[in-house]
Amino acid sequence: MIRVALVGSRAEEMRASLASHGFDVSFVHDADPSLVDVLVALSDAPPFELEPWRGIPSILVANEISNEAIAAAASLRAVDVVLSRDERRLVEAIEEAGTRSRGAGLPSGMELELLRKFLDVAPNSINVCDAAGRFVVVSQSFADFYATTIEDLVGESIETILAPQDLEATRAENAEVIATCRSRVSERDVCDRSGSKRRVSIVKRPLLMDDGTVLVLTVASDVTRRFRTEAALENANDFLKNILETITDAVFALDLSGKFTLVNRRLVELTGLTEPALLATPFTNIFSGQTLHDAKRHISELFEDPRERDFEGRLTHPDGSERIVSCSLLPLMRQDTFVGIVGTAEDVTERHLAQRRIAHLAYHDPLTNLPNRRLLTDRLQIALSQAMRDGRSVALFFLDLDRFKAINDTLGHRVGDLLLQELGTRLRECVRQGDTVARMGGDEFVFVIPGLNRIDEAVSTAEKILETVRRPFIIEGRELSLSACIGMSDFPEHATDADALLRQADIALFECKNGGRDTWRAYTASMSMRSSERQEREADLRRALRDGEFQLYYQPIVNLCSGEICGAEALLRWEHPQRGLLLPDDFIDLAEDTGTIVALGEWALHEAARQNAQWQQAGLGGITTSVNVSARQFGGPIVNTVRSALRSARLDARYLALELSESSLGQSSSSPKNAIAELKSLGVDLTIDDFGTGYSSLLYLERFPLDGIKIDRIFMQGDFSKPAAGFVAGAIISLAAGIGLRVSAEGIETAKQAEFLISRGCTTGQGHLYYAALPPCEMERLLRGDLGDRILA
Ligand code: C2E
Ligand code: CA
Ligand code: CA
Repeated sequence: MIRVALVGSRAEEMRASLASHGFDVSFVHDADPSLVDVLVALSDAPPFELEPWRGIPSILVANEISNEAIAAAASLRAVDVVLSRDERRLVEAIEEAGTRSRGAGLPSGMELELLRKFLDVAPNSINVCDAAGRFVVVSQSFADFYATTIEDLVGESIETILAPQDLEATRAENAEVIATCRSRVSERDVCDRSGSKRRVSIVKRPLLMDDGTVLVLTVASDVTRRFRTEAALENANDFLKNILETITDAVFALDLSGKFTLVNRRLVELTGLTEPALLATPFTNIFSGQTLHDAKRHISELFEDPRERDFEGRLTHPDGSERIVSCSLLPLMRQDTFVGIVGTAEDVTERHLAQRRIAHLAYHDPLTNLPNRRLLTDRLQIALSQAMRDGRSVALFFLDLDRFKAINDTLGHRVGDLLLQELGTRLRECVRQGDTVARMGGDEFVFVIPGLNRIDEAVSTAEKILETVRRPFIIEGRELSLSACIGMSDFPEHATDADALLRQADIALFECKNGGRDTWRAYTASMSMRSSERQEREADLRRALRDGEFQLYYQPIVNLCSGEICGAEALLRWEHPQRGLLLPDDFIDLAEDTGTIVALGEWALHEAARQNAQWQQAGLGGITTSVNVSARQFGGPIVNTVRSALRSARLDARYLALELSESSLGQSSSSPKNAIAELKSLGVDLTIDDFGTGYSSLLYLERFPLDGIKIDRIFMQGDFSKPAAGFVAGAIISLAAGIGLRVSAEGIETAKQAEFLISRGCTTGQGHLYYAALPPCEMERLLRGDLGDRILA
């Protein structure tokens, strides 16, 4: 094989022409040669590596036989130098070279001659040293660098001019080149004569002489300017890199294939991928799910139409968490050419979560996490419009727990809350996916059950719900039993708008509650009539209280043996402007249900106390007035009310007796117990009213500091001339005597009854046998003694 070094531009042409002659030729080529560039290029990279070529005859082809060409020929140890246009000569030279033996070259010394002759015109500084470190050949520019002359340098040792640190490096490098017989390339600082530092790129090649000695050819080019520019660029890069790293957003650049070419630390954190991994990855690959497709679309759109794009996407971090990022992509233009994309990505997961949390809070009940009234209204609207389209029914349930208040009062709100939470979970499990269970507040829940074909389906769901509520709850180790009532309304049977359906379900619930516990009722039109009537009556009641239409009548309580008046029970009457005088049966239940009883009872206590005090001031003697107290008053400030009634009337507490219904004591909670103890300590008399008609246990007779029992008038029914009659009354009397309570009877209408009671030891009572309930003026006359001994009803 022949090596042909081309100094010129006709490589391809010549390769073709030489190949047509059947030559096996390798080319070393440089398109724009200066001598030094050829030398550097030849020794630099593998195709130009000279050493493996050692022994292969070389021919230098140049465009003209210049000094540089000859110098290059010397360095190559070329056997010939040929003009590139002289193809015939080249063919001859190749043939000739082919016949020469391996390893042959120019005769010894000639190469140095050639170098000496031409190196002084070379722009780069060149020198040749021997193994002892003496200059054999130097170029003019080398001499200039050290501010001396070629003559002064040749034959001198390198020590004479090199600065100490350069000397050391040079010796080491030369020794290496000689020892290995290989080129080396380096870049380092070199001091010139004046001591100023220059950055120099150094190429060293061994020159193998025919006498076996090895010289070192050094070609140095001053790259100070390039070096400084590079350093400055590097600084600028570092500066930008620093900015990128401190920026809180992820910043990246993509090439035209959509792959990352630059990423900052924030993007590494955000994606959980390493920088090298990212740099090999297409941008879109960092996303997952639907966003992957979105991102691909955005990128391809951006390539088609280079404008800014913003989008939000999801990516799955390797730690398994999902992140939401807001991306902005911007085309990177260089002189109107689209060369890539720069982008930023911001982690907006927290912001999204916060927004979601806020939205959730606005539409959910914080205790049970069920939809709240607002969301319910939305869902109901949607269910109704859907039902209108597909012609199906929607059932609406209004659920209210029975006696939940008692649980809250007795066990505390904490237990109440836990119970509601557990209940919320259970209710949710009772219904299908598309159904809604909402908490309206307190112990009220509403269900929307859409997509029904027949109303029976709703009935079985309601029954299932009641059954679920009935299953015992274990709260803080305590077993609690609950029950509930459900009022139902149905679209389209009962109403077609959401408000009306809710109202109707509520009315049905109310009816249900009145009818007892643990049941459901569907709305009917008659309920609505009852309901609106009720609303009117309730308003009427409040108005009456405001307008002072209530009065207290007094029914005397007498000593059954002597007939002497020892007290009076205050009984409410309503002087209704249209309906005339109304008895409690006409309004007490309504007042209880609506809570008006609290205000009404408060008024009664004040009025009774005031009246009693007035009678005493009028010198009519001291009797005890008994006032009926509703269980609902125990939910309010009953103790304060009694205290203030006594205080404002300036009445001694012993003239006031309270008749408590069994239900006020029925709760084992501490609040009525405390209230009763406080009332007792005020000094008022406490009696259980209607004894025997309630549901509560006899235990409270012992538990509470009570004074007496009042036997209800239903136990006065029957023919007291027969032995069976009065059995219960008799039993109550013995019971009271057994625990040391006073006992009184009401509804005594016959002398037989009175006799029976006396015979059993009950000594006080009231009834039409003695007096009916009297208006205050008549009671006053009675007390004055104006009415004689008895007023028969
Ligand atoms: P109560 O506490 O059992 O009152 C006794 C009721 O029996 C009174 O009816 C009284 O007029 C009636 N009565 C008395 N003697 C006889 C009798 O010999 N024969 C018959 N058939 N009835 C007799 P009234 O006044 O209609 O009161 C009914 C209920 O209304 C009371 O029953 C009481 O529970 C309630 N009530 C009355 N006033 C008040 C009040 O100020 N506050 C509260 N919370 N409830 C009241
Ligand atoms: Ca009573
Ligand atoms: Ca009674």
